[in-house]
Amino acid sequence: MDEFELIRCFFERPFSPGIVSIGIGDDAAVLNPRPGRQSVVCTDTLVEGRHFLIGTSAHAIGWKCLAVNLSDLAAMGAEPIWATLALTLPEADPIWLKDFSTGFFELADATGVVLVGGDTTRGSCLTITVTVGGDVPMGQAIRRGGAHVGDTIWVSGFPGEAAASLRQRVSGQPEPERWCRHLDYPQPRLDLARQLRGQVHAMIDISDGLLQDMGHILKASQVGAVVEEARLPRHTQDGLKPLWEDVLCGGDDYELLWTAAEDCFWAGDVNLPLTRIGRVVAEPGLRVLGVDGQLQSVGMTTGYRHF
Ligand code: ADP
Ligand code: MG
Repeated sequence: MDEFELIRCFFERPFSPGIVSIGIGDDAAVLNPRPGRQSVVCTDTLVEGRHFLIGTSAHAIGWKCLAVNLSDLAAMGAEPIWATLALTLPEADPIWLKDFSTGFFELADATGVVLVGGDTTRGSCLTITVTVGGDVPMGQAIRRGGAHVGDTIWVSGFPGEAAASLRQRVSGQPEPERWCRHLDYPQPRLDLARQLRGQVHAMIDISDGLLQDMGHILKASQVGAVVEEARLPRHTQDGLKPLWEDVLCGGDDYELLWTAAEDCFWAGDVNLPLTRIGRVVAEPGLRVLGVDGQLQSVGMTTGYRHF
């Protein structure tokens, strides 16, 4: 199978022209921007053995390479429109490619994303780079730097379950199905993000751990925060709970973390638990109020291993 047959077979699909005017098949894609809106673009690369374990199903990789990008758009409050896909493959295995593209398009179809182009090359290490584009109403992108002193801090879902899943998997222990899904099939929180737009002050998606990603908001906003350990959402599944370390430091969940005024109101019909976990304060740095009542300063980069 040559490169062009591969693209035609697995990636080129009919689409109804709208914002996307010309997709795969020419030298570049052509878009019709929506008036009154700003474009939002981001890219993420997944490398085998680094971002996913060797042996991860092609279907899950296809889903996840798009999901992690859509999560970045969600964090900006943006709505996705198009994606490009740059694939570096050790070999062109049609079974793998079929599975991969099925996983990719399952999420693309669910979120209205059109694959408008990409690149396909041979290389020794399986590497996937996806770029996604979307838009927001003019001036309404949600940034990291907007947190105010006195804001409440919120998180969606159950951060930590992807890390708990990875921990179990690497050590050969059984993992609850639900954790496994969080690691392999993260759900970009696009609906929630749309509802939060215009209501919240600062937002980020949790890709590198709750504390570290909160650190980015605090740094950009030049404020500090206190997080209450007792408020952190932890769900017991099959008799197992994620560790505190999973919840606070584990990456790969792609939940949203945001700050909002105390009296902020949003519709909240997202079928997802939203938990208030702390407060923005003037004193710089990040502190965790432990279940033991002790206030502990924590680093906002790595190395938070005290719980
Ligand atoms: P060029 O040589 O002009 O860069 P290519 O031969 O690389 O074009 O690609 C031909 C067409 O197929 C282009 O529209 C490109 O965007 C698209 N394409 C290539 N690889 C992929 C891929 N993995 N997924 C989606 N589209 C792809
Ligand atoms: Mg090319």
